[in-house]
Amino acid sequence: MDEQVFQSLLTVPDHPGLEEEVLAAWEAEGTFAQLRARNAGGPRFSFIDGPVTANRFSLGVHTAWGRTLKDVFQRYKALRGFDQRYQNGFDCQGLWIEVGVEHELGLNSKREIEEYGLEAFARKCRDVVVRSSEALTRGSIRLGQWMDWGTDYFTFSDTNIEYVWRMLKVVHERDWLYLGHRSTEWCPRCGTSISQHELIGSYVDRADPSLYVRLPLVDRPGESLVIWTTTPWTLPANVAAAVNPTAEYGRRANGEWVAAARYPDERFEEALPGEALVGWAYEGPFDDIKPTPHRVIPWDDVSLDEGTGIVHIAPGCGSEDFELAQVHDLPVVMPVDESGRFYDDFGWLHGLSTTEAAEQIIGALGEKGRLVEAGLHEHRYPECWRCHTPLIFRIADDWFISVRDLRQPMRDANATVEWTPEYMGKRMDDWLVNMGDWNISRRRYYGLPLPFYPCVCGHLNVIGSRAELEERAVSGLEQLEELRRPWIDRVPVACAECGEPVERIREVGDVWLDAGIVPFSTLGWQNETWVDEGYATGAARGLTRADLPDHAYWEQWFPADWVSEMREQIRLWFYSQLFMSVVLTGRAPFRRVLGYEKMLDETGREMHASWGNTIPAEEAFARMGADVMRWQYCAQPPSQNLLFGFGPAEQIKREFLTFWESVRFFVLYANIAGFRPSWDGRQPAGDLKPLDRWLLERTHAFVRDAEAGYESYMTTDVMRAFTAYVDDLSNWYIRRSRRRFWNGEPEALATLWYALLHVLGAMAPILPFVTDWLWRRLVLDGPESVHLAAWPEVPEADRALLDEIADVRRVVTLAHQARAASGLKLRQPLRRLVVEGANGASRHADEIADEVRVKDVAFDSVDAELRVKPNLPVLGPRLGKELRTVQQALAAGEFEELDGGRFRAAGHELAPDEVLVERSGREGYSVASAEGMTVALDLQLDDELLLEGRAYDLIRAVNTLRKDEGLELTDRIVLTVPESERDVVERHGDWVSGEVLSTEIRVGDALGIEKTAAG
Ligand SMILES: [Zn+2]
Ligand SMILES: [Zn+2]
Repeated sequence: MDEQVFQSLLTVPDHPGLEEEVLAAWEAEGTFAQLRARNAGGPRFSFIDGPVTANRFSLGVHTAWGRTLKDVFQRYKALRGFDQRYQNGFDCQGLWIEVGVEHELGLNSKREIEEYGLEAFARKCRDVVVRSSEALTRGSIRLGQWMDWGTDYFTFSDTNIEYVWRMLKVVHERDWLYLGHRSTEWCPRCGTSISQHELIGSYVDRADPSLYVRLPLVDRPGESLVIWTTTPWTLPANVAAAVNPTAEYGRRANGEWVAAARYPDERFEEALPGEALVGWAYEGPFDDIKPTPHRVIPWDDVSLDEGTGIVHIAPGCGSEDFELAQVHDLPVVMPVDESGRFYDDFGWLHGLSTTEAAEQIIGALGEKGRLVEAGLHEHRYPECWRCHTPLIFRIADDWFISVRDLRQPMRDANATVEWTPEYMGKRMDDWLVNMGDWNISRRRYYGLPLPFYPCVCGHLNVIGSRAELEERAVSGLEQLEELRRPWIDRVPVACAECGEPVERIREVGDVWLDAGIVPFSTLGWQNETWVDEGYATGAARGLTRADLPDHAYWEQWFPADWVSEMREQIRLWFYSQLFMSVVLTGRAPFRRVLGYEKMLDETGREMHASWGNTIPAEEAFARMGADVMRWQYCAQPPSQNLLFGFGPAEQIKREFLTFWESVRFFVLYANIAGFRPSWDGRQPAGDLKPLDRWLLERTHAFVRDAEAGYESYMTTDVMRAFTAYVDDLSNWYIRRSRRRFWNGEPEALATLWYALLHVLGAMAPILPFVTDWLWRRLVLDGPESVHLAAWPEVPEADRALLDEIADVRRVVTLAHQARAASGLKLRQPLRRLVVEGANGASRHADEIADEVRVKDVAFDSVDAELRVKPNLPVLGPRLGKELRTVQQALAAGEFEELDGGRFRAAGHELAPDEVLVERSGREGYSVASAEGMTVALDLQLDDELLLEGRAYDLIRAVNTLRKDEGLELTDRIVLTVPESERDVVERHGDWVSGEVLSTEIRVGDALGIEKTAAG
């Protein structure tokens, strides 16, 4: 052997190191560009990327999960020749961005932002997006994600904004747009309302004040109502107290009225039904501040499960309260402004925040003798998803899109979508059934400017494009840098009705408008002519080279064949896309969705920066490598939370080692044999052994299984197929073929090489680095990258043969179990193994004998005593009275054994989990059984067997010595054995010599080896 054909492998892979090498090779060779060029014009696979919010300066491991799944399926489709778009997206507007900038600048209110200046603020926000998009791109490239970086879409592009305008204009033309005056969840710090879909997952455990407050009745001296609240700040806005009209209320001796059901142990002086209390006037808690009339109203929904059964109603601070105010014509008192501070006309409360006010209010109630009880109450309470400020309810004028006419068409469109996992489609439908009108307005700055210009004449002007804006603008166009505040606010338009100049409302849009329009704005819907780099407008100018395609292109790529995001996107991106697509086209914007659950740390806790258990992707790249991360993501069933961490990564590295060692084994023996395979002759030929033919079939079955996994978007199926295959490859094929590799048999080498290439090809989408790195070492004259070799097309496998060998492997496993139970060493040869229930394996008796180290394998009934008892907790409930009869039949041995571990007794068929089975062998046998297969190992030893066992011991000892002394696999030795082993070498000397490569065996003092001069 002059020079090595294949470069040797280290004993363990250095994942991060080899990944950097592969990245450099891809860069140098333009691998991705080559792939795209090859697939151009092929069948289309349309994937649309859900935009990642560009507000972080490094990739997170949770974002890397989604990016991995996207990359895996795009790579798979690319191997199969599909033409793809590869456009990445960034979400660039909205509160996420604003809150980050506020934090950076140390601003903490809207007033401070306005003082800072909206122009400067807008530039800072853009700057965050620029820096973040660069960092996220770097991280994604390191992860191995192949996208057309540089042609990304940025949702703050003027083009994207214009497309949303267009959609809103359609909505207005259909009469679905309205200005609602209603109670809404409100973040006092961000100074804006929060819409229904933004509340998901925003509930946290909190302790709030719990107050029982006495409200004296005006016409019943000495008597009072007792109400309960956990939001003291709402008490100054109280206008009514609600009772359940059908419940009974009782008066205590001290005059306090409460619901009788709440205090079952109390005795009451007087009892009345709730309806009798309706209309009673009472003194409000703070009439000194806000004098308003107060009365008792009926409400069927008053709960008798908590509080006093009398509910405090403040229509200015609660959504149900607000609705009751409409029904009962109650005044609506609004105590706090946009920033959650009391208005000036609230006396001594003015300027206080809702939390600051709480203490003062409790104190004042105490002084007035109105406080019955004050404590703390633990409950789930919503907070702002961006700044974690507890939300309050406020009455606000917000812009809504009515969903009444859209609900059914959206449900119908969703019904055409194939969801994985399936339950997520049902979740979407549930959401659509229950969705309220979409609150699209936010009182903020860095967002989509809503193009609404309400005129005093009563006409609502809605602008649908930049061209329309320019046409109707009265002034200010010369300074319009971007379709964005503050510039856009300086462009009034002429009212279409009366011609007077009208200003834009100041609100910006919900960010989900920006992301939902992407299937239209990036694909050129209704755009007449293609514009090169036409998407790079407004704030996106200079950041991307994305084109604005024409409508013909949209027709080709819409709807998406596939999209994939986390489950929470059901109510966010999946929803907003579906919404806008149904408005514009009446169809779903995607055909298939892959959703997945949440990522937790490896102990199952949520990851939080403040808990110190988050993992930056950079750290994971350096410590585990991108392939190991991708393996973790892909082994995960999407319907369960992923427990991500370095512990699982170590486990994966160990698991991967089995495959790595198989490749290493090949390289080692191929080099020794000077085996030089050619790509064109990769199909093994010549004198193939049955085991080789089996491996070919097994390989084909694996590729087919992997293919089925990819086709059903279940990476976990691919990983399962891979793990099972590698076990067969390593622990059956290689183990059983070792001697052939020692002898350099070309058929064995060719078969193993063929198998390895197929594994690399099939796993390339999931493990793009290590597969390509190995490919580049194993393939001498074929495609230079595994990603440029097409998907390995294989014939349908001979599943019958595979089932036989699977049976063989199960027999071997059971035989090892039986041996372990007997306490005999694995090396000790035995006389006989009897196998029952694995007739498929009978053609492979020799292999079993060899593996199990027995002289003879018989396929026969095992003479074992079988005891079957009922599994009472399971069988009892099913059989009832019949149980006794069955129990007696089993005890008397009157039963029949059926396939698959089932039994029949007293006319009943019993499932495997309904019985407890015990088998014991005859004296001198060890028995093991599982799933209808039983083996019995004859444990009897004779001198012949013992001597052979000692020969095995000797071979093992010598080979250990060879390894310890650092001998090459091909080195020959002179072996010295102690006198005690003389009988072994006299009987088995030739065999031992062959196994340990000794040219001579001497008997001496102790075991020893000496390398002979000539190799
Ligand atoms: Zn907030
Ligand atoms: Zn007008």
